[in-house]
Amino acid sequence: MKVEEKGTRFEVREGPHGIKLPVYMDNHATTPVDPRVLDEMLPYFTERFGNAASRHHAFGWVGEQAVEIARERIAKLIGAAAEEIIFTSGATESDNLAIKGVAEMYRAKGNHIITVVTEHKAVLDSAKHLEKHGYRVTYLPVNKDGLLDPDDVKGAFNDQTILLSVMRANNEIGVLQPIAEIGKLCRERGVLFHSDATQAVGKMPVDVNRESIDLLSISGHKMYGPKGVGALYVRRENPRVQLSPLIDGGGHEHGMRSGTLNVPGIAGLGKACAIASEVMPQEACHIAGMRNRLKDTIMRRLEEVYVNGSVEHRLPGNLNLSFAGVDGESLLMGINDVALSSGSACTLARVEPSYVLKALGIPDELAQSSIRFGIGRFNIEAEIDYVADRVSEAVESLRELSPLHATAKPPRTS
Ligand SMILES: *Cc1c(COP(=O)(O)O)cnc(C)c1O
Repeated sequence: MKVEEKGTRFEVREGPHGIKLPVYMDNHATTPVDPRVLDEMLPYFTERFGNAASRHHAFGWVGEQAVEIARERIAKLIGAAAEEIIFTSGATESDNLAIKGVAEMYRAKGNHIITVVTEHKAVLDSAKHLEKHGYRVTYLPVNKDGLLDPDDVKGAFNDQTILLSVMRANNEIGVLQPIAEIGKLCRERGVLFHSDATQAVGKMPVDVNRESIDLLSISGHKMYGPKGVGALYVRRENPRVQLSPLIDGGGHEHGMRSGTLNVPGIAGLGKACAIASEVMPQEACHIAGMRNRLKDTIMRRLEEVYVNGSVEHRLPGNLNLSFAGVDGESLLMGINDVALSSGSACTLARVEPSYVLKALGIPDELAQSSIRFGIGRFNIEAEIDYVADRVSEAVESLRELSPLHATAKPPRTS
């Protein structure tokens, strides 16, 4: 299908109980820009359009001021200092810069890197790139809940290890790794610790000192900020982390990332962080309540529904369910007024079951029956109930149609 044909089908309609259709419940793929963030950004497209690197006039100064305010707001949210924040085009670039930048800078110290099989492709593909250039990479497994065992980390270190990269929260199954414990192990061994915290920042407390993190990736559009802007936290003392840049040029961002700064985007990311600092505890509680309601409603109504990943160590807004006997793609096609993902958005084009679910030891058939629900700031209770209904109905009707499921599990007569 051509993109324009898909686009013409997008229109907002009135749904039941005052909700708008289609319902957006795919907040791990991206989030809408918070209106307060947009307001913060707009002047930097118009009157305040200056280049933040222009030293000789007020246009430049107000741009620079916006950038420095944003740096402070981001730093505050993660317990860092403003000088430790480097602006990038998003978390993909931050991950690439952290991993390739450390690898190149510390090549004389060692050539071994450790990461985890369930990481985002931005991390895994950066590691694979390094393997082609003479580095060795250990990909640690996870248990059936999707969690990394710190003992496996200990066992993977060798005298060539320069970097460990472990994500804070997984983008498919929302599970939270034992980051503080792992960070401590790295510190003891003198190994640098990078964490892709794209899904965690703004949703749960993140503190680079408490968690002994040396490099941390952030993305604007996963936390109600704009797309195409992100940040990398780079520790400046104990230890002072150095990076080889991926992009050379005017020497912006301490020479770690050249290129004219995206001032409106950066101002937006900063505002998104300031809002998160304020609302996070209450919002997390509210969102977790909606997530639990969604899970309980669906699981009360349907049999053979399984939660993928740890229920306990999980992002508040994430739910990932497998519906035995139902193909996830077909399920989503049957629910065209709710935006959800089957598996990871990044692997949607492929028919392969998600590599994350496979890593948990979930059989292909169940992995292929999985749906990711991502609940966010702008979802309301009425949408939760609507989505629970639509998903349950769709699963029921697909199961009725499926001879395989019917033979495996006769319909209940009671
Ligand atoms: C979305 C995401 C990324 C990529 O972020 P972009 O800003 O879109 O490049 C990286 N890691 C994780 C865990 C993500 O969820």
